[in-house]
Amino acid sequence: MNRRGQEFLGSPWRRWSCRVLLGLTGLTVTISSGGLVSKGQEANSPKIVATFLPVYMFTKAVAGEKTEVEILISPGTDPHEYQAKPTDAIAIAEADVLVKNGLGFEEFLDKLIASAGNSQLKQIDTSQGIEPIEEEEHEDEGEEHHHHHHEGGNPHVWLDPVLAQQQVINIRDGLIDAEPNNGEKYAANAAVYIQKLQELDREFKARLTPMQGCKFIAFHDAYPYLAKRYNLEQMAVVELPEDSIAPRDLQRIINAAKEFQVKGFLSESGANDSRIAQISKDLGLPVKVLDPVETGPLDPQHYFTAMRNNLTALEEVCR
Ligand SMILES: [Zn+2]
Repeated sequence: MNRRGQEFLGSPWRRWSCRVLLGLTGLTVTISSGGLVSKGQEANSPKIVATFLPVYMFTKAVAGEKTEVEILISPGTDPHEYQAKPTDAIAIAEADVLVKNGLGFEEFLDKLIASAGNSQLKQIDTSQGIEPIEEEEHEDEGEEHHHHHHEGGNPHVWLDPVLAQQQVINIRDGLIDAEPNNGEKYAANAAVYIQKLQELDREFKARLTPMQGCKFIAFHDAYPYLAKRYNLEQMAVVELPEDSIAPRDLQRIINAAKEFQVKGFLSESGANDSRIAQISKDLGLPVKVLDPVETGPLDPQHYFTAMRNNLTALEEVCR
């Protein structure tokens, strides 16, 4: 099942996000029972629901401060393992607009939409128009390893600052279509966010160009778009079992590192995972944290903070 779950269990966001979600659930009830518009919500704003963190951040950036955006998957939960809750069906039943990543990432969604019975629902697929990269095939995958294969190709497009711009454009156009009266606001907000994404892209280019061809091993198949964009090479993705690591798994990592002459490891827990720390020590190769931005704070500006930390981690491994 989940090979990263343990890392997220200790996340400080988990408890915090539960409170946020409870608040939102309460709000849903208030709106449905009283027909009230929540405090601070603009009267003519559509009710917008986004599926998980990056899609939420991009949507919130376009919708603006005063427009409420609900998030289905609490930002402390690993979205790969998400199981829909009854409150999700309620949220979708009451929504005007649903924003999703697409590329098969939200596998739970189709069933949920069918059960919500909302014929007016407008869906925005943020990955529309993006050319997908196929997911890594995992060799040597035993029966006990549940491999999570997405239908539409690798879904982690938000980790490429250029493709993220396309996602924001899709959200902008979808929201304008849903609520033309707010069109100018959505266009202006999107322009500000896209400009910041362009700046981020320029920073990535400037700092990673000298490191072109850098080879690394990751522990989550989240970075093929990022690697392709900046000419880095994700040589292997080694998914670790969540509890015990078999000697043959360790051997696979060591073999891959030697075979591909990688510069280092990019993991989600860095050297906190004793198994990765040991391999890194044995091989004398650095291990740094790369954040897939699937969990974290809800602030749309958090995307830039997380991505700049990723840029530093890539530099530290590749130099
Ligand atoms: Zn992922």
